[in-house]
Amino acid sequence: MLEMLSPASSEDGTVSPPADPRGDAEVVAADDELSFERDVWARFAAFVRGYFSDFTPVRLASHVAVVLVVALVLFLSQVNMPRWELTRPEPPQPSAAGLEDEALPLISFWPNRGGSRLGSSDSLMRAAVPFTTIPDRPRLGIIIYTVQAGDTLSGIADRYGLTLDTVMWAGGLELCPQLLRVGQELMILPVDGVHHTVEEGDTLDDIAWKYKVQAEDISGWELNGLEDVNSPLTPGQVLIIPGGVKENILTKILAYAGEPSEPSSVGTGRFAWPVSGSIQILDWFNTTTIGGRPGGTPRPWPHKGIDIGAWLGTPVLAADSGTVSVAQVGGYNGGYGNYVVINHGNGFSTLYAHLSSISVQPGAVVAQGQRIGAAGATGMTTGVHLHFEIRYDRVHRNPLCFLSVTSQ
Ligand SMILES: [Zn+2]
Repeated sequence: MLEMLSPASSEDGTVSPPADPRGDAEVVAADDELSFERDVWARFAAFVRGYFSDFTPVRLASHVAVVLVVALVLFLSQVNMPRWELTRPEPPQPSAAGLEDEALPLISFWPNRGGSRLGSSDSLMRAAVPFTTIPDRPRLGIIIYTVQAGDTLSGIADRYGLTLDTVMWAGGLELCPQLLRVGQELMILPVDGVHHTVEEGDTLDDIAWKYKVQAEDISGWELNGLEDVNSPLTPGQVLIIPGGVKENILTKILAYAGEPSEPSSVGTGRFAWPVSGSIQILDWFNTTTIGGRPGGTPRPWPHKGIDIGAWLGTPVLAADSGTVSVAQVGGYNGGYGNYVVINHGNGFSTLYAHLSSISVQPGAVVAQGQRIGAAGATGMTTGVHLHFEIRYDRVHRNPLCFLSVTSQ
């Protein structure tokens, strides 16, 4: 019975359906699945029999037409289906998977960097500080900020709620703010003031005096780790000086040392300090008051050079080799007093003013480091010092952008 219901027996063309489907009612009741197949088969056999018994040409034609329509629909759908199958894999999945493959190592490499792909070329690059709003709670420590493209000193100061001076002092940029560079690391103090690296022999009183604060201001800053003003200091220790100011302090410079080089009408392009020793900048480039002090005596025009403190008679040296173009002895000379100008033959020239004496003649070819005179107080001065200018293409430049300073 089961074999008779199998598809093989139905395809042999003999079409021998069960005599009476209802005769197997008990079996049908016993097995629903089997009865369903049998029922379908019985209906199909009856349909075939009926079809061929009612056979007419019109009926055949109509049925052939239906078959053709179905075939056409199938044909069209078969053409369309491959397109659909082809386009489905194209959408984002493959490329998204590719991105994920690239991003994963970065995420695992810098778990705290948010998976930024920008720094992938340098695994040691310090992360940019990503926030622009600073939490209200006070910062106790020093932050190292890496300068980004478009940053300005005042913008950075604003972002951290600090004064421009604090940011410049911490970075030594008060010497030459134009030296701010992308990628440069700036020290951001937790509070307005300065920092100081303790040196052998430093006392808290000395440091406090230098930055115009009280010793208690320094020992009272928790992070400095000092119990009181008598706590010992360790050389190399970095102290935060809240409220400290760095007023024209420049203690260590690389003055020209050793024998002068060979005289040359063309300079090296590198400048050496024109006076030797431990010196102090009395007035900076471009200040608009005498001494650069806020509220001080206004200058008739912005300061065109720097004023370097020196004892009367201190040798003044050529900052670079070149040809003496001016060696003016006597006269006020617009406030310069006795002064020398050296043309370095490379677009640069330097000027040395207020000299007490001059030891070169106009037209002399001098060497870098060669003595050209002595410091004095001639012309318009408030005391003995060297007024030093650097010009390039006749435009005054900030000398401190050209002179080496080892520390401040
Ligand atoms: Zn000056």
